[in-house]
Amino acid sequence: MAYREIDMNLSAETLAIQKEVRKFAMDVMRPVGIELDQMANPADASAPESPVWSVFKGARDLDLHLNSIPEAYGGIAESMDPMTSFLIAETMGYGDAGLAISLGASAMPFGFAAMFAPFVPELEQMVRDYVADEKGEMVGCWAITEPEHGGDWSLGKDDPKCGPSVTGELKGDEYIVNGEKAAWVSNGTIATHAVLHVGLDASRGMAGTGLAIIPLDLPGITRGKPLDKLGQRSLNQGSIIFQDARIPKQYMVIQPVENAIADMGELILAGANGGMSITFAGLAKAAYDEAFNYAQQRVQGGVSIFEHKNIKLDLFKMFTRVEAARANSRRMALYNAAQQTKGEMPSGAHAVAAKCLSTETATWVASKAIQIFGGNGLAKEYPVEKMFRDARAAMIEDGVNETLGLAAAEYL
Ligand SMILES: Cc1cc2nc3c(=O)[nH]c(=O)nc-3n(C[C@H](O)[C@H](O)[C@H](O)COP(=O)(O)OP(=O)(O)OC[C@H]3O[C@@H](n4cnc5c(N)ncnc54)[C@H](O)[C@@H]3O)c2cc1C
Repeated sequence: MAYREIDMNLSAETLAIQKEVRKFAMDVMRPVGIELDQMANPADASAPESPVWSVFKGARDLDLHLNSIPEAYGGIAESMDPMTSFLIAETMGYGDAGLAISLGASAMPFGFAAMFAPFVPELEQMVRDYVADEKGEMVGCWAITEPEHGGDWSLGKDDPKCGPSVTGELKGDEYIVNGEKAAWVSNGTIATHAVLHVGLDASRGMAGTGLAIIPLDLPGITRGKPLDKLGQRSLNQGSIIFQDARIPKQYMVIQPVENAIADMGELILAGANGGMSITFAGLAKAAYDEAFNYAQQRVQGGVSIFEHKNIKLDLFKMFTRVEAARANSRRMALYNAAQQTKGEMPSGAHAVAAKCLSTETATWVASKAIQIFGGNGLAKEYPVEKMFRDARAAMIEDGVNETLGLAAAEYL
């Protein structure tokens, strides 16, 4: 029996979009994700001949990059209803979570650039170029983590002893930027543009951070090697190094004045963690579906293993948690979208709660799926061991769940 969906109020248009995205997720993202995962050398996964580029191009063919861009610049943000947006993200997480994160991170600088485009002509041009980029050549990233500062970004405050290592100094019309962003930056070695967190006022520690939206071909910027890692191997990651890099001052859109970076931080925390929660609710459902289908086919003791009560009950417990994660992330996403439409702050606490619930659910469900597959669960020939590795990485991604929880507790 097919998984019963109980949202009764989806429009015909939403269902049609979901069907199209599901085809992309299953025909392109899933097989490409497996191929990238199995490449021994991560550099091959981002080489010009890598299949990863068919994912960026495929997303452009579906106009998915227009979802967060306002109509004034050629996007469709105003007409994209939040439920459709949710289902697109969940379906892509179902296809391949690492690639879904890659596409999500890629959109980030351009979504931010659109916010500041009315005041900065260069950013307006950046957004217009992105809208027109049919080949998927403009790739974004969010560069915040540094080799010396991970959890500090969620927990660090106005303390001069703990400030960013990537720092900038205004000289004339340019910031001179030095330091390194960690090898964990998603799309780090393939990105053409970045949202960059830069220390501008050392006396205020993390609160002295400014935010820049930059092209990455500016003088003085180089990249590290693609990172080799356990999970989400389909997601390119690598460091970005600044050596007397020259950033034109109009790209520094947030200055460390009063609570500017803290407010922007809550907005980013809510957006990034909200996206994570939806993606990994999708992965949890994918792992459940694999286990359910396998349990129907595998025969032991003369019957399908689904007929054994332990397996049946495990599947029911998995189903219960998958539905809880999906419902919770959906509720959070709809609320936060409504807040932003009204020009009000989204709820960071709800977004972090949903991220923690979805990523922990996905890890637990994928681990149970391995158990239901028995020995086959450990074999690369079957999809669940990769799903488990991908889910496990998510409990550290965009903030370790524990440090995120400590930060979000402050909003309660
Ligand atoms: C798949 C993936 C994708 C990512 N994508 C990006 C990206 O796009 N851009 C980007 O910039 N970064 C990205 N990251 C980096 C990620 O945000 C960091 O790995 C994360 O914030 C943790 O930092 P860290 O690895 O330095 O761990 P640390 O901060 O060193 O933490 C190590 C341990 O110590 C604990 N800890 C740390 N500080 C405290 C404290 N003050 N109080 C209590 N406990 C503490 C943590 O909970 C953790 O268990 C990504 C990471 C992953 C895994």
